Amino acid sequence: MKSLITVVLLSLLLTGCGSDKTFVSIGTGSPTGVYFPAGNAIKKSVEAAEGNTLRISVANTGGSVENINNIMNQSMTFGFAQADRQYQAFNGEANWEGEPQESLRFVFSLHPEVVTLIAASDAGITSVADLTGKRVNIGSPGSGQRGNAEAILNTAGIPLDDIQAESMSAGECASKLQDGLLDAYFYTVGHPNGSITEVTTGRRAVQFIPITGMETLIASAPYYTATTVPIDLYDRVKQEGPVPTIGMLTTVVTHLDTPEETVYQLVKEVFENLDALRAQHPALQKLTPEGMLKGGHAPLHPGALKYYLEAGLVDPAPSGP
Ligand code: GLU
Repeated sequence: MKSLITVVLLSLLLTGCGSDKTFVSIGTGSPTGVYFPAGNAIKKSVEAAEGNTLRISVANTGGSVENINNIMNQSMTFGFAQADRQYQAFNGEANWEGEPQESLRFVFSLHPEVVTLIAASDAGITSVADLTGKRVNIGSPGSGQRGNAEAILNTAGIPLDDIQAESMSAGECASKLQDGLLDAYFYTVGHPNGSITEVTTGRRAVQFIPITGMETLIASAPYYTATTVPIDLYDRVKQEGPVPTIGMLTTVVTHLDTPEETVYQLVKEVFENLDALRAQHPALQKLTPEGMLKGGHAPLHPGALKYYLEAGLVDPAPSGP
């Protein structure tokens, strides 16, 4: 009898009595990108924090567009999204043309992402114009890179019909290129990441393709920046830099209806354990609290705002005349 009571007490203790835990989900991306490991890094640092009651499940998904849609239909609590997709969703553009996702809320941003175009060296591709007629993965419909590939091809004056556009998931690209089933692929992603590491260490030599002539595109939107691919992170690539391209921030978003306390707690644990988060992935190493408040194109979620006010990271709004 005594041992039965001990078992019952112990299991109550282990389950935390069940009711005081809040279960949330975060939609990320492919395990070969940075979203998925970054989501796991957030899970680890938040769940390890003293007094935390959040339990986080990290889902691998098709990427930004799928994550935003899952948040809006409330099948997911949080999601990673490129800053450009966040902007377009909130304002009813591109995938959300005429249907502004007004309940989308910004939480914080993470690492910068780079639109990366990588091609097999034997495919005869040295510029975006050379993609004509080639077998190129532009990304799955749920991914963030698909919209970037389309915008870049459009800016370069290449109709989508002029390339053999594929819609593979990010996780498949490296092996498909190595197997000769792709000539090149677009991947909007932080560096270093698993996909580019895999494709640059395969038998078929690859090279990064510069994306130039994008000044008008960059100037047309508040979320793009001119940047370069950090080729020195990939030892096996024998290429002289820099490789110009465009980039934007990774952001974490949620629904307006996510309880204030849930968002507050996630944000607080992330910001107060930033060293632990930075240490978990090289792409996260340069995160700063100030930098993480950039990239918001939808309004801040009230739970996030509450923490930023408390931490003195944002100024209180003027209380009127
Ligand atoms: N930017 C990509 C997307 O939105 C995902 C990149 C990653 O998984 O790190 O689909």
